[in-house]
Amino acid sequence: MDKADEISDEELFKQPPPKEDCPICFLRMPLLLLNPTGSKYQTCCGKMICSGCCHAVAKTKKTAIPLCPFCRTPIPTSKVEMIEKEKKRVEAGDATAINNLVVCHRDGRNGYPQDHTKALDFFHRAAILGDFESFLNIGYAYENGEGVEVDMEKATHYYELAAMGGDVNARHNLGILSAKSGNVDRALKHFLIATRDGQSVSLNLIKDLYSKGHATKEDYTKALQAYQAYLNEIKSPQRDEAAAYSKEKYRYY
Ligand SMILES: [Zn+2]
Ligand SMILES: [Zn+2]
Repeated sequence: MDKADEISDEELFKQPPPKEDCPICFLRMPLLLLNPTGSKYQTCCGKMICSGCCHAVAKTKKTAIPLCPFCRTPIPTSKVEMIEKEKKRVEAGDATAINNLVVCHRDGRNGYPQDHTKALDFFHRAAILGDFESFLNIGYAYENGEGVEVDMEKATHYYELAAMGGDVNARHNLGILSAKSGNVDRALKHFLIATRDGQSVSLNLIKDLYSKGHATKEDYTKALQAYQAYLNEIKSPQRDEAAAYSKEKYRYY
Protein backbone atom coordinates (compact mmCIF):
# COMPACT_ATOMS: atom_id res chain seq x y z
CA MET A 1 0.00 0.00 0.00
CA ASP A 2 1.22 3.45 -0.93
CA LYS A 3 2.07 5.94 1.86
CA ALA A 4 -0.33 8.40 0.19
CA ASP A 5 -3.16 5.86 0.59
CA GLU A 6 -2.85 5.81 4.38
CA ILE A 7 -5.85 7.14 6.26
CA SER A 8 -5.40 9.08 9.50
CA ASP A 9 -7.34 8.06 12.63
CA GLU A 10 -8.85 11.52 12.75
CA GLU A 11 -10.45 10.98 9.32
CA LEU A 12 -11.31 7.37 10.02
CA PHE A 13 -13.16 7.90 13.30
CA LYS A 14 -15.29 10.83 12.21
CA GLN A 15 -19.03 10.13 12.22
CA PRO A 16 -19.77 10.01 8.46
CA PRO A 17 -22.43 12.27 6.95
CA PRO A 18 -25.86 10.58 6.92
CA LYS A 19 -27.05 9.06 3.65
CA GLU A 20 -29.57 10.85 1.47
CA ASP A 21 -33.00 11.33 3.08
CA CYS A 22 -36.10 9.81 1.53
CA PRO A 23 -36.89 12.15 -1.40
CA ILE A 24 -40.61 12.07 -0.61
CA CYS A 25 -40.98 12.47 3.18
CA PHE A 26 -37.51 14.03 3.70
CA LEU A 27 -36.85 11.88 6.76
CA ARG A 28 -33.65 10.00 7.45
CA MET A 29 -33.61 6.69 5.59
CA PRO A 30 -33.76 3.57 7.79
CA LEU A 31 -30.69 1.36 7.58
CA LEU A 32 -32.57 -1.89 6.99
CA LEU A 33 -32.47 -2.95 3.35
CA LEU A 34 -33.79 -5.78 1.22
CA ASN A 35 -35.28 -8.39 3.47
CA PRO A 36 -36.41 -7.08 5.94
CA THR A 37 -36.81 -3.80 4.25
CA GLY A 38 -36.88 -0.19 5.36
CA SER A 39 -36.44 1.22 1.88
CA LYS A 40 -36.61 0.12 -1.72
CA TYR A 41 -34.50 0.93 -4.77
CA GLN A 42 -36.64 1.97 -7.75
CA THR A 43 -35.25 0.68 -11.05
CA CYS A 44 -37.19 3.38 -13.00
CA CYS A 45 -35.64 6.52 -11.52
CA GLY A 46 -32.84 5.07 -9.38
CA LYS A 47 -34.28 6.57 -6.17
CA MET A 48 -34.36 4.88 -2.77
CA ILE A 49 -37.82 5.28 -1.25
CA CYS A 50 -38.63 4.60 2.41
CA SER A 51 -41.05 1.88 3.52
CA GLY A 52 -43.61 4.44 4.73
CA CYS A 53 -43.80 6.23 1.36
CA CYS A 54 -43.87 2.91 -0.58
CA HIS A 55 -46.79 1.71 1.52
CA ALA A 56 -48.63 5.06 1.32
CA VAL A 57 -48.75 4.76 -2.48
CA ALA A 58 -49.37 0.99 -2.59
CA LYS A 59 -52.37 1.18 -0.25
CA THR A 60 -54.29 3.72 -2.39
CA LYS A 61 -54.46 1.24 -5.33
CA LYS A 62 -55.79 3.98 -7.63
CA THR A 63 -54.33 2.26 -10.69
CA ALA A 64 -54.39 -1.39 -11.74
CA ILE A 65 -50.59 -1.43 -12.11
CA PRO A 66 -48.54 -0.27 -9.10
CA LEU A 67 -46.61 2.95 -9.74
CA CYS A 68 -43.23 4.13 -8.48
CA PRO A 69 -43.93 6.37 -5.45
CA PHE A 70 -41.46 8.93 -6.80
CA CYS A 71 -41.66 9.19 -10.61
CA ARG A 72 -45.03 7.42 -11.07
CA THR A 73 -43.71 5.01 -13.70
CA PRO A 74 -45.35 1.55 -13.56
CA ILE A 75 -43.26 -0.74 -11.33
CA PRO A 76 -41.90 -3.85 -13.14
CA THR A 77 -44.23 -6.75 -12.48
CA SER A 78 -41.84 -9.58 -13.42
CA LYS A 79 -38.24 -10.35 -12.54
CA VAL A 80 -37.28 -10.28 -16.25
CA GLU A 81 -38.74 -6.79 -16.62
CA MET A 82 -36.98 -5.63 -13.46
CA ILE A 83 -33.61 -6.93 -14.69
CA GLU A 84 -34.16 -5.16 -18.05
CA LYS A 85 -34.87 -1.86 -16.27
CA GLU A 86 -31.86 -2.29 -14.05
CA LYS A 87 -29.67 -2.87 -17.13
CA LYS A 88 -30.80 0.51 -18.46
CA ARG A 89 -29.80 2.13 -15.17
CA VAL A 90 -26.40 0.46 -15.51
CA GLU A 91 -26.01 1.89 -19.02
CA ALA A 92 -26.93 5.32 -17.63
CA GLY A 93 -24.03 4.98 -15.15
CA ASP A 94 -26.16 4.60 -11.98
CA ALA A 95 -23.66 3.44 -9.35
CA THR A 96 -26.24 1.60 -7.22
CA ALA A 97 -27.56 -0.29 -10.25
CA ILE A 98 -24.01 -1.25 -11.25
CA ASN A 99 -23.31 -2.49 -7.73
CA ASN A 100 -26.57 -4.52 -7.68
CA LEU A 101 -25.73 -6.10 -11.04
CA VAL A 102 -22.21 -6.93 -9.97
CA VAL A 103 -23.41 -8.61 -6.79
CA CYS A 104 -25.37 -10.91 -9.17
CA HIS A 105 -22.14 -11.65 -11.08
CA ARG A 106 -20.25 -12.26 -7.84
CA ASP A 107 -22.88 -14.59 -6.40
CA GLY A 108 -24.01 -16.13 -9.71
CA ARG A 109 -27.63 -14.94 -9.25
CA ASN A 110 -30.46 -13.88 -11.61
CA GLY A 111 -29.09 -16.01 -14.44
CA TYR A 112 -25.58 -14.50 -14.41
CA PRO A 113 -22.66 -16.93 -14.29
CA GLN A 114 -20.42 -16.48 -11.26
CA ASP A 115 -17.34 -14.45 -12.22
CA HIS A 116 -15.28 -12.95 -9.38
CA THR A 117 -12.74 -11.21 -11.61
CA LYS A 118 -15.41 -9.48 -13.65
CA ALA A 119 -17.25 -8.55 -10.45
CA LEU A 120 -14.16 -6.95 -8.94
CA ASP A 121 -13.60 -4.93 -12.09
CA PHE A 122 -17.14 -3.54 -11.97
CA PHE A 123 -17.02 -2.84 -8.24
CA HIS A 124 -14.10 -0.53 -8.94
CA ARG A 125 -16.18 1.20 -11.62
CA ALA A 126 -19.15 1.71 -9.28
CA ALA A 127 -16.84 2.90 -6.49
CA ILE A 128 -15.43 5.60 -8.77
CA LEU A 129 -19.02 6.69 -9.48
CA GLY A 130 -19.55 7.17 -5.77
CA ASP A 131 -21.12 3.91 -4.60
CA PHE A 132 -19.48 3.34 -1.21
CA GLU A 133 -20.95 -0.13 -0.89
CA SER A 134 -18.66 -1.14 -3.76
CA PHE A 135 -15.65 -0.42 -1.55
CA LEU A 136 -17.20 -2.79 1.00
CA ASN A 137 -17.49 -5.46 -1.70
CA ILE A 138 -13.88 -4.94 -2.83
CA GLY A 139 -12.78 -5.26 0.82
CA TYR A 140 -14.83 -8.44 1.12
CA ALA A 141 -13.13 -9.88 -2.00
CA TYR A 142 -9.69 -9.24 -0.49
CA GLU A 143 -10.70 -10.65 2.90
CA ASN A 144 -12.06 -13.84 1.33
CA GLY A 145 -9.78 -14.24 -1.69
CA GLU A 146 -12.54 -13.93 -4.29
CA GLY A 147 -10.92 -13.14 -7.64
CA VAL A 148 -7.75 -11.97 -5.84
CA GLU A 149 -5.23 -13.30 -3.32
CA VAL A 150 -6.28 -12.82 0.32
CA ASP A 151 -4.77 -9.51 1.46
CA MET A 152 -5.94 -8.26 4.85
CA GLU A 153 -4.12 -4.94 4.52
CA LYS A 154 -6.02 -4.17 1.32
CA ALA A 155 -9.27 -5.53 2.77
CA THR A 156 -8.94 -3.15 5.73
CA HIS A 157 -8.09 -0.25 3.42
CA TYR A 158 -11.21 -0.73 1.31
CA TYR A 159 -13.40 -1.26 4.37
CA GLU A 160 -12.04 2.03 5.70
CA LEU A 161 -12.93 3.87 2.47
CA ALA A 162 -16.44 2.41 2.58
CA ALA A 163 -16.87 3.17 6.30
CA MET A 164 -15.77 6.79 5.87
CA GLY A 165 -18.39 7.17 3.14
CA GLY A 166 -21.02 5.96 5.59
CA ASP A 167 -21.20 2.23 4.86
CA VAL A 168 -22.30 0.75 8.16
CA ASN A 169 -21.47 -2.87 7.30
CA ALA A 170 -17.88 -1.94 6.44
CA ARG A 171 -17.71 -0.04 9.74
CA HIS A 172 -18.97 -3.10 11.57
CA ASN A 173 -16.41 -5.33 9.80
CA LEU A 174 -13.61 -2.97 10.87
CA GLY A 175 -14.82 -3.33 14.46
CA ILE A 176 -14.68 -7.12 14.16
CA LEU A 177 -11.17 -7.05 12.63
CA SER A 178 -9.94 -4.73 15.42
CA ALA A 179 -11.48 -6.95 18.10
CA LYS A 180 -9.89 -10.05 16.51
CA SER A 181 -6.48 -8.39 16.59
CA GLY A 182 -7.03 -7.62 20.29
CA ASN A 183 -7.53 -3.85 19.93
CA VAL A 184 -10.77 -3.44 21.87
CA ASP A 185 -10.48 0.36 22.00
CA ARG A 186 -10.52 0.63 18.21
CA ALA A 187 -13.24 -2.00 17.96
CA LEU A 188 -15.44 -0.02 20.36
CA LYS A 189 -14.90 3.18 18.37
CA HIS A 190 -15.97 1.47 15.14
CA PHE A 191 -18.96 -0.26 16.75
CA LEU A 192 -20.14 3.01 18.31
CA ILE A 193 -20.10 4.84 14.95
CA ALA A 194 -21.99 1.96 13.32
CA THR A 195 -24.52 1.95 16.19
CA ARG A 196 -25.13 5.69 15.75
CA ASP A 197 -26.01 4.92 12.12
CA GLY A 198 -28.43 2.19 13.10
CA GLN A 199 -26.39 -1.04 13.14
CA SER A 200 -28.05 -2.99 15.95
CA VAL A 201 -25.57 -5.88 15.55
CA SER A 202 -22.77 -3.49 16.55
CA LEU A 203 -24.82 -2.41 19.56
CA ASN A 204 -25.17 -6.07 20.57
CA LEU A 205 -21.41 -6.58 20.30
CA ILE A 206 -20.78 -3.55 22.55
CA LYS A 207 -23.22 -5.10 25.03
CA ASP A 208 -21.29 -8.35 24.72
CA LEU A 209 -17.94 -6.63 25.33
CA TYR A 210 -19.45 -4.89 28.38
CA SER A 211 -20.87 -8.11 29.83
CA LYS A 212 -17.45 -9.78 29.48
CA GLY A 213 -15.71 -6.85 31.19
CA HIS A 214 -13.92 -5.56 28.04
CA ALA A 215 -15.99 -2.36 27.86
CA THR A 216 -17.16 0.02 30.59
CA LYS A 217 -20.73 0.76 31.61
CA GLU A 218 -20.17 4.23 30.16
CA ASP A 219 -19.31 2.71 26.76
CA TYR A 220 -22.52 0.69 26.78
CA THR A 221 -24.65 3.64 27.93
CA LYS A 222 -23.16 5.78 25.16
CA ALA A 223 -24.01 3.08 22.63
CA LEU A 224 -27.62 2.82 23.85
CA GLN A 225 -27.98 6.59 23.57
CA ALA A 226 -26.46 6.57 20.07
CA TYR A 227 -28.94 3.93 18.91
CA GLN A 228 -31.84 5.84 20.46
CA ALA A 229 -30.74 9.02 18.64
CA TYR A 230 -30.80 7.06 15.36
CA LEU A 231 -34.30 5.73 16.13
CA ASN A 232 -35.53 9.25 16.89
CA GLU A 233 -34.39 10.33 13.45
CA ILE A 234 -35.96 7.52 11.47
CA LYS A 235 -39.27 6.98 13.28
CA SER A 236 -42.45 8.28 11.67
CA PRO A 237 -46.18 7.49 11.98
CA GLN A 238 -46.28 6.66 8.26
CA ARG A 239 -43.45 4.13 8.57
CA ASP A 240 -45.03 2.68 11.72
CA GLU A 241 -48.30 2.26 9.84
CA ALA A 242 -46.49 0.44 7.02
CA ALA A 243 -44.70 -1.86 9.49
CA ALA A 244 -47.99 -2.60 11.27
CA TYR A 245 -49.53 -3.49 7.88
CA SER A 246 -46.73 -5.95 6.99
CA LYS A 247 -43.71 -6.60 9.16
CA GLU A 248 -42.22 -8.83 6.49
CA LYS A 249 -42.38 -6.12 3.82
CA TYR A 250 -41.99 -2.90 5.74
CA ARG A 251 -40.16 -3.49 9.02
CA TYR A 252 -37.71 -0.62 9.30
CA TYR A 253 -35.76 -1.11 12.54
ZN1 LIG B 1 -40.33 8.45 2.79
ZN1 LIG C 1 -39.32 5.89 -10.20
